[in-house]
Amino acid sequence: LLTIRDLKKSFGRTEVLKSIDLDVGRGEVVAVIGPSGSGKTTLLRCINFLETYDGGSVRIDGAEVGYTEGRKRRGERALARMRAETGMVFQSFNLFPHLTAAQNVMLGLTKVRRKTKAEAREIAGHWLGRVGLGHKAEALPSELSGGQQQRVGIARAVAMEPKILLLDEITSALDPELVGEVLEVVRGLAAEGMTMLMVTHEIAFARDASSRIVFMADGTIAAEGPPVELIASAEANPRLFSFLARFR
Ligand code: ATP
Repeated sequence: LLTIRDLKKSFGRTEVLKSIDLDVGRGEVVAVIGPSGSGKTTLLRCINFLETYDGGSVRIDGAEVGYTEGRKRRGERALARMRAETGMVFQSFNLFPHLTAAQNVMLGLTKVRRKTKAEAREIAGHWLGRVGLGHKAEALPSELSGGQQQRVGIARAVAMEPKILLLDEITSALDPELVGEVLEVVRGLAAEGMTMLMVTHEIAFARDASSRIVFMADGTIAAEGPPVELIASAEANPRLFSFLARFR
């Protein structure tokens, strides 16, 4: 479903992604772990073209997200449509503060998916219910806890029916007691076969909820594999070993 080949990205003279190759198949849940600054967030941002890249390709079902076949940057409308294939959930929620929970979920549905207001409202109601917030549809983000705001963020992303969900450290900004309710929602989506690529610092969650872990270091994929095998292989990989040691 997602095919990344030889992806390269620099900020000025800093090479942040050095020839990344990564495939994510339909229904896979892939966790990306790695030290701060290793390029995890940049990788996710390149996938939905929030960040342009310098070389290589990112394809969703064969189509490049940011560029046309002639390597021309897509227009904003086409880009919005392509981005809708990759739902993104952010560390800092990024909800519109002046819109209610329901309106936050409805916005992309009416603007990008061309749903009527009534259709969008129904879909929003469904997904807010699914993340346990059916009763908070009319609340503003400021009236919600961090965990609730993040669940609205997830509802907003999945309501667009993306082919893949990109989760960028979605529990990092939460008080510890609110992390569980958000991870529970992610677990539920995984169980239903949602394809996901998630950057996370929750190593235990990555181990339990993902089908594969990708370990990034210095802008490269330094190791990858099924959770149990990857963690078992750490003895032979000094960078992975010292990274994981912090979580023991
Ligand atoms: P963290 O776990 O701390 O979020 P990360 O692995 O997600 O780290 P990135 O956020 O992808 O890492 O950043 C990788 C490197 O790119 C860092 O050195 C960072 O300073 C740099 N970087 C990221 N965004 C920009 C930018 N817009 N301009 C310049 N440098 C940037």
